[in-house]
Amino acid sequence: QNGLMMDRPLLLSDVIEHAAQQFGRAEVVSRETHGALFRYTYAECAVRARKLANALAGLGLKPGSAVGSIAWNNHRHLEAYYGVSGSGMVMHTCNPRLHPQQLIYIINHAEDEVVLFDATFAPLVKGIAAHCPKVRTWVCLADAGHTPDIEGVANVLAYETLIEPCSDAFEWPSFDERTGAALCYTSGTTGNPKGALYSHRSIVLNALSGCLPGVLALAPSQTILPVVPMFHINAWCVPYAAPIAGAKLVLPGPMLDGKSLYELMESEAVTISAGVPTIWQALLGHVEQNKLKFTTMRCTAVGGSAMPQALIARFMDEYNVEVRHGWGMTETTAVATMGTLSPESAAWTPAQRHALIAKQGKSVFGVEIKIVDENGATLPRDGSAQGELMVRGQWILASYFKGERSPLVDGWFPTGDIATIDADGVMQIRDRTKDVIKTGGEWISSIDLESAAVGHPAVAMAAVIGVKHPKWDERPLLFIVRKPGQSLEKEEMLAFLAERVAKWWVPDDVVFLESLPVGGTGKVQKADLRKDYGGVFS
Ligand code: ADP
Repeated sequence: QNGLMMDRPLLLSDVIEHAAQQFGRAEVVSRETHGALFRYTYAECAVRARKLANALAGLGLKPGSAVGSIAWNNHRHLEAYYGVSGSGMVMHTCNPRLHPQQLIYIINHAEDEVVLFDATFAPLVKGIAAHCPKVRTWVCLADAGHTPDIEGVANVLAYETLIEPCSDAFEWPSFDERTGAALCYTSGTTGNPKGALYSHRSIVLNALSGCLPGVLALAPSQTILPVVPMFHINAWCVPYAAPIAGAKLVLPGPMLDGKSLYELMESEAVTISAGVPTIWQALLGHVEQNKLKFTTMRCTAVGGSAMPQALIARFMDEYNVEVRHGWGMTETTAVATMGTLSPESAAWTPAQRHALIAKQGKSVFGVEIKIVDENGATLPRDGSAQGELMVRGQWILASYFKGERSPLVDGWFPTGDIATIDADGVMQIRDRTKDVIKTGGEWISSIDLESAAVGHPAVAMAAVIGVKHPKWDERPLLFIVRKPGQSLEKEEMLAFLAERVAKWWVPDDVVFLESLPVGGTGKVQKADLRKDYGGVFS
């Protein structure tokens, strides 16, 4: 017989109401788009989420309607996460760095009826509004005083004006937990972006897992600052996990440079943060240059691209900040694997511990992983066989939004990443299928080369692409951004690498750049580098 327990749906409205009732005085601190700091509590956040739910109903939106956002990490965006999804509508977070044509495509494809935007993105709205016929109202996430007039766009409202007259009582509807709650499109480097429609169930389960001690270890004693954008995979579900755990939430708004982040971490006593490696590189650059220390930060969660081992070492040994290195993608709701130190690693050398953290860790409960060869046969978990990483689980995408063909292979989602898994279950991403360098029938991992290059003290950032080569098919080309005031030349860089990687891995050339092309989610855009340099050896 079935168990005799209640069957209550996992809904996002319960997350914010739980926070309001149990952690009503826990704080949310938010950087306004115009720079000022704003603070309130989860109880006040819930009140305003209910007002927004009433306001959206007043605009004629119904359960199932989609609401877009083009916004930073701030408290109004947080209210929308709950006001929209809690009403049974779909919160569609848009990446503002998409090409305007792609932005138009996703807003129309999602059938957004209202779009919430930050004043920063008013010029973007001006450019796209005429091409988004379904959008009835553009709502600026600000008060009337900070809402700009947008030439040619008549239906612009200030968020505060919209919600102010609305009641703060709202009966959150109850519905099937499998209902769509949030929609996020992949960045679509080839073809149109594809939408991942997360269910209430997938988000709640993922957020619960995010609270675990071995993942983000959230609790009322913690303060978390998600640098990862709320338009990128729901900021890895931190805006859901923090209220579940009663952790204080600090939202950095548009100010994501090293200095601003450091100051916010210190002034708000942040204990844990989450973001991509390029953000941590900038933060540590600021901290090192100014000889600062972290007084409260104890952990940084990092993912989105591989965290170089040298950066892990600096955080852990020089600043006593633990690095949690995870892996996930738009199609996995958020974290799917997470690395932590093993009990035996206490007896290891620091370098051995850094090497373990440089891997992407073990799958969290709810997610299964395996690697397969090109025929789909499962490869051994021996730490050396490499193949395509496949995932399945409670919060892994089964189909794309309005997609015709299932992307699954035998019930597993193919990630397009090449990985190894060792006997302990620790997974390491070797490369993306499209970034791995195929040379003379062998593979070179661009991630490993980049990680080695960043180990040089004069290197701020590194990227490696495969470049067409008449004899070897492809050869690696290395791009370096030097740290300010450092001199480093090609010969020294290549000699440094020659001591650390196999001879045939040493790149054929080094290009020094002022900066690398970085996309909206903080990742180096290798497609841009390939466009400009892909033919240099042919
Ligand atoms: P995109 O980067 O293509 O815009 P996603 O944000 O969904 O899209 O990124 C998912 C991809 O990011 C993964 O398939 C993987 O290639 C890469 N990735 C994520 N986390 C890591 C990590 N910790 N190390 C290396 N690569 C990672």
